Amino acid sequence: MPESDRLLVVDDADAATQCCIAGGGPAGLMLGYLLARAGVRVVVLEKHHDFLRDFRGDTIHPSTLTVLDDLGLLDEFLQLPHQEVTELTGEVFGQLVTIADFRHVPAARQVLVLVPQWDFLAFLARKARAYPHFALRMGTKATEVLEEGGRIVGVRVQEQGRSGELRADLVVGADGRHATLRESAGLATVDTGAPIDVLWFRLPRDAARHPARTGGVIQPGAMLVTLNRDSYWQCAFVIPKGSLEDLQAQGIAAFRARVAHTAAFLSDVVDSLQGWDDVKLLSVQVNHMPQWWREGLLCIGDAAHAMSPVGGVGINLAIQDAVAAANLLAAPLREGRLAIEDLRRVQQRRMLPTRLTQRMQVFLQDRIIRRVLSSTDTPVLPFVVRLLARFPFLRRIPARLIGMGIRPEHVRA
Ligand SMILES: Cc1cc2nc3c(=O)[nH]c(=O)nc-3n(C[C@H](O)[C@H](O)[C@H](O)COP(=O)(O)OP(=O)(O)OC[C@H]3O[C@@H](n4cnc5c(N)ncnc54)[C@H](O)[C@@H]3O)c2cc1C
Repeated sequence: MPESDRLLVVDDADAATQCCIAGGGPAGLMLGYLLARAGVRVVVLEKHHDFLRDFRGDTIHPSTLTVLDDLGLLDEFLQLPHQEVTELTGEVFGQLVTIADFRHVPAARQVLVLVPQWDFLAFLARKARAYPHFALRMGTKATEVLEEGGRIVGVRVQEQGRSGELRADLVVGADGRHATLRESAGLATVDTGAPIDVLWFRLPRDAARHPARTGGVIQPGAMLVTLNRDSYWQCAFVIPKGSLEDLQAQGIAAFRARVAHTAAFLSDVVDSLQGWDDVKLLSVQVNHMPQWWREGLLCIGDAAHAMSPVGGVGINLAIQDAVAAANLLAAPLREGRLAIEDLRRVQQRRMLPTRLTQRMQVFLQDRIIRRVLSSTDTPVLPFVVRLLARFPFLRRIPARLIGMGIRPEHVRA
């Protein structure tokens, strides 16, 4: 092999491994940790040199807290600086309504935890590195799958401008919604489409004057999610799909005024948005793969199903996919008897929760959010919101759907 084709980061012991995971996000790192813990040789490739990317989901759901508890990591995880949310409260057309109450979810802790995603990922990476079978290659990108006789046998990787190969019994595409490996393996997706995009930004929070709640504000023509992060608000402003350019043409001052008009309590801090560089676009996609696998390859997390941001459940589902995959694949991988049927089982286990969740998200996007964004008069409170306002016990249902998801997983010993 010519020198330029040799992969410097992967030493001989790792040049062939039992499982190669492309993507060190929530799905990839959790799966890497679980497989290494089960005695499988695993290499996780992460194309970035660190986890420090702002404006990614920071929600750690009760179902993930349960997984961490199964692993004996929960108390240590909760030592990280975090906020705990017991209720989601929305100001809907001027009326304050508690939408979800997490205090009854059947989880290790009855809270939604907000933690910077890079802290969560660094925590998982640190714990995984304690296992001798685990390797994490930062700054290493999987560029395509290697295929032999119709089977995926590894990946081509690139690091510091040099390329090489890493062979594996199983390649896992956990490379997020832009999913390089899915595409290079020729696996299809079905796009459901989304009528919205989301603008993420931070605003300073004044604990003395601002409300303590986490939730959002819905006004005619506007929807703003406000996550209370103690010293700042993590905000998500929902806009009709493709309308960012129009907003930008009106200027940042007009946008600041819109935010202040939507949530009056933010009017004294919106000036901290200096320009469009402070605002990050999440172009919303909703899609799924009809088939998550090929011989030698499995896709999980956003790579297999990009979720709408409605309900903020993308991390939850990515972690649950990882747990299900580890439960079903660890023994066959360790014992060198992995078969297509094992990969099929992972999809069978996770397809229903994913598709049902996406259907609910699409229903809410199309029936409620789209109408709110196009309305100019104050509409009547949606029927569901009136029910939640009237019957507090009903708030357990959204809490369960957001916090636990459908068919929550436990780590098998
Ligand atoms: C702005 C924003 C806000 C969000 N807010 C929330 C929220 O509040 N709650 C929530 O639950 N979800 C939220 N989400 C969604 C959530 O972040 C994702 O659903 C979740 O991170 C999916 O995890 P994943 O591991 O499948 O993919 P990702 O988190 O996308 O991780 C994929 C990883 O793979 C790496 N990678 C990509 N390609 C390659 C390659 N070729 N080789 C090597 N590495 C590669 C990427 O750098 C990345 O680290 C948000 C997403 C965005 C963009």
